[in-house]
Amino acid sequence: MSSERVGGRWRFQCDNCTEAVDTASGNFNEALAEAKAEGYRAYMLSGEWFHRCDGCSRSRS
Ligand SMILES: [Zn+2]
Repeated sequence: MSSERVGGRWRFQCDNCTEAVDTASGNFNEALAEAKAEGYRAYMLSGEWFHRCDGCSRSRS
């Protein structure tokens, strides 16, 4: 799992590098929307969520 709550707010960690985005929201859906606005991509694989930062999602097609 690459998302965690830090101080009541969601953080999304890239699964491919050390990039992470700290959102301003404790609401998961709002936080995810914020992460997506930062270029993050969320995808599900074998029932688990994974996240890629903007750079990693661009470097792989
Ligand atoms: Zn990355």
